[in-house]
Amino acid sequence: MPNLLDYDLAGLVGWFAELGEKPFRARQVMRWVHREGCDDFGAMTDVAKSLRVKLGEQAEIRAPALLRDDVSGDGTRKWLFDVGDGNAVETVFIPESGRGTLCVSSQAGCALDCAFCATGKQGFSRNLEVGEILGQLWLANRLLGVAAGTEEDNGRVVSNVVMMGMGEPLANFDNVVTALRVMLDDHAYGLSRRRVTVSTAGVVPAIDRLRDECPVALAVSLHAPDDALRDRLVPLNRKYPLRGLMAACRRYLERAPRDFVTFEYVMIDGVNDGDGHARALIALTRDVPCKFNLIPFNPFPHSAFARSPVERVRRFAGILLDSGIIVTTRRTRGDDVAAACGQLAGQVRDRTRRTLQTMEEV
Ligand code: SF4
Repeated sequence: MPNLLDYDLAGLVGWFAELGEKPFRARQVMRWVHREGCDDFGAMTDVAKSLRVKLGEQAEIRAPALLRDDVSGDGTRKWLFDVGDGNAVETVFIPESGRGTLCVSSQAGCALDCAFCATGKQGFSRNLEVGEILGQLWLANRLLGVAAGTEEDNGRVVSNVVMMGMGEPLANFDNVVTALRVMLDDHAYGLSRRRVTVSTAGVVPAIDRLRDECPVALAVSLHAPDDALRDRLVPLNRKYPLRGLMAACRRYLERAPRDFVTFEYVMIDGVNDGDGHARALIALTRDVPCKFNLIPFNPFPHSAFARSPVERVRRFAGILLDSGIIVTTRRTRGDDVAAACGQLAGQVRDRTRRTLQTMEEV
């Protein structure tokens, strides 16, 4: 049975046409589903009764089932959703003054096996369906108690979405782009392109496709200033080395809604956090307008790394700042409900299929 969370507006209009229904009916139902968070066709009061009955018989609105709901002392909320066959994905809501950011997963597990990542260690299960990606936003709004017309809704509790949860979004390109279109659609969530971010480990051809098909804000998981180190920390680099990745970032900025790329950089003690690494980053990104987001490494069981000391992170940030680069250092949030990203899901099913790399190997 079709799940209406799987469709963007064009898809919904097409499916409604098959039912013999007009496009405006699809827009009406889309607003009910996404703006109102409604999953009961009978409650869609301005939709013709005959259509409501038809929809009830031939369609469903189905989001992933909630497995866990944890609220951290700092207000960060982490949800664990069941996507079937023993797979679970994480979604995190981070409230900040003036905005609320939802971190959304795109795959169950991840095939890219970055050396510092709890999700990568679980291996790859499958791509998420559109409805499973969008279902995270749809459910977050419901679980945060956002109802249309309330103060929260006007203030947009979820004002920003980052595709930065489990998985490599650009490896699930079609489903992610369809979900992005719904996030941006005024009949659904109406989020600004500037407030929706896709974070990639650097799938170069897909960065170009995203620029052409659905440009939103771009973040790149960089984590190393040279190919030798990045090959080991982010194995995808062996396929798409830094030179080509920086060129793709420059091309992306020609059409991006923001005039900079955000480079994510996990700070790992003694591995990538030296003064020389910072200076090499400045040289690497000289031609790419960018901001850096430094992320203190979040240790997880069996990880071979340690978090850079606070003073080291401060010094590293200072070197970048002195060169004119804007730098933010991510506060580690939600530690009391689950440590590193990917750990909750890992507890549900330990899919470890790889030999954990030791610090010496990296
Ligand atoms: S850091 Fe991202 S791309 Fe790398 S293994 Fe983890 S989820 Fe996959």
